[in-house]
Formats: sequence, C-alpha cells, structure tokens
Amino acid sequence: MNSKFCIAIHGGAGTILKSKMTPEKEELYRKSLETALITGYDVLKNNGNAVDAVEQAVIAMEDNPLFNAGKGSVFTNNGDHKMDASIMNGSNLKAGCAASVSNVKNPVALARKIMEKSNHVLLAGKGAEDFAKSEALKFESDKYFFTEFRYKQYQNALKSENVYLDHSVIEDDNSGVDKKFGTVGAVALDNSGNLAAATSTGGMTNVKFGRIGDSPVIGAGTYADNNTCAVSCTGDGEYFLRALTAFDVSALMQYKGLSLEEACKEAVFNKLAALGGSGGLIAVDSAGNISMVFNSEGMYRGYIDMNGKMEIGIFKV
Ligand code: ASP
Repeated sequence: MNSKFCIAIHGGAGTILKSKMTPEKEELYRKSLETALITGYDVLKNNGNAVDAVEQAVIAMEDNPLFNAGKGSVFTNNGDHKMDASIMNGSNLKAGCAASVSNVKNPVALARKIMEKSNHVLLAGKGAEDFAKSEALKFESDKYFFTEFRYKQYQNALKSENVYLDHSVIEDDNSGVDKKFGTVGAVALDNSGNLAAATSTGGMTNVKFGRIGDSPVIGAGTYADNNTCAVSCTGDGEYFLRALTAFDVSALMQYKGLSLEEACKEAVFNKLAALGGSGGLIAVDSAGNISMVFNSEGMYRGYIDMNGKMEIGIFKV
C-alpha cells in the first residue's frame, strides 16, 4: 500500500441504463465524479482529515448541476427546493444533519456546522436556515437553484401526480428529460485512521407534505464509526429509513463479525431488498477496504484506493 488513506463517492443510484446514455453525457458524468474524487483525495493527501475530505468532495458535487444536491436539487410539489444533508465523524460519533432547508448553497457545510457548532444533531427548516445565517454560511437566490431540465421533470411529475427518484428513467415519461442525476455522498479514511461519511440530496421530485428521506438521518442514509466503517446511501429513502441501512452495515460488522463487503451485500441484497427497496451505498472500513453495492440498474460511483488507483463506474458490471 502506498498510503493509509482512501475515498469513495456516489452521485446517486437508480435506473441508469447504458442504452439511454450518450457517450458525451457519460463522459460528463465521469469527469464530474473524477473532479469530486480528486477534490476529496487532495485533502487526504495533504494530511487533511476524513471529515474535511468528505465535506469537500460533497461540496464539489453540490456545486455541480448534474447532481440532485445543492445547485441541481429537484423541485418539490410546491415548486421550491428542499435540501437535506448529513455528516458523521467516525472518531467521536459526532454527527450533524440539516433537513428541508432552502437557499443554503451547501447543505453539507451546514450539517458540518451543526455537528461542530451547535449542541444538536438535527436541525430542520427555517430554524436550520437561521442557524446557517448565524454561522455566516452562503445563501443563494431561487434563480441559482433553477435548472431547466429539473423544471421540465417537475412539470411532468405534476401532470402524472407521481413522486420520482431523480435519477430513474420513467418508462411512460415523454418529457425527453434526462432523469439520471442523483443524490451525492462520500466516505473516507484518513492518514490517522479516522473515518467519516457525508450525504446530500435535493430529495425526490414532486414530493409533498414536508417529506424527508434517509439522507439527513444518521443510521439510515449516513453512518461512520472508526471501529467499523463509514457508509453513505442513495435510493428510495423510505426503505433506507425503515431498514436503517447505513447503521446496519456497521452493526453487521461489529456484532456479527462480517467483512465490509459481506455486510454491505447483506444490508442491500437481503435486508433492503426484502422490504422492496432499491438503491445502493458506498462504504469504507478502518483497514481501507472499499465497497460499492447497489441493487438498482446503476449507481454513479468512484473511488481512489490506498494504492492511489482511481475507478469510476456508472452501470452494473
Ligand atoms: N435517498 C434520497 C431520498 O430518499 C434520494 C436519493 O438517493 O436520490 O431523499
């Protein structure tokens, strides 16, 4: 091994089909994933910590309209954007989560502030936005979050009264809109043996009633513990919430002695799938093993391992 650190990221799981992807689009996704990976990896290479690395990697994706997080967030039924994010530090089990926030440029940065500057774990809505202001975090206008293709996606969803996972292709959808964009997440192991995980999302298109998914919920969408692993999930949030998928991976390692890969497969292929849930996760353990497991058609994903080897994937292999 050349180093003691490594990082993995995802940009959402769903019905991502090669047949629906042009080479140009594929290249764009690959480049975007690569940029986010290198952003996080550079932090680790410069002896930075895992929390900084996952935050920076997620910010790179939040700022990229390709992904359903930050700038590229989808529309709710009301025509606004509600974003969720969380971050967890595996060295002390501290965590911060922001749910249902609007206009905050980088929800993962807000989650980090909640973890480090508040006495709380989860802040939601206007209160979370007020806290973000008190911490001088950057806000953006509604215009910044408006993207034409997401608007079309929303208009289409309104007509059919459906709630869509952002990056899934909807068979009877004639909007001509590309839906293969997703929630983002990162997991990392740093030079000092510390693990961290972060997840950020714009949720699901056309949701109502203040629905919140798994992404800002510790144990469901995000988990990190230096004794086991760091995990970030993506997919149908309702199932991840019920299956507590991120914590499940850690618990399977801790209590049942499974390897990272075994625990991830058990959590996704057996437990999540048994409930009818689809999606995936990325995970890294304290030895630097990396797993990327999904039961959907595809998952935007990538890693740089302890040998400095980079891999990027989109479809099932
Ligand atoms: N898990 C997210 C949610 O349910 C969606 C996603 O992963 O794309 O809000």
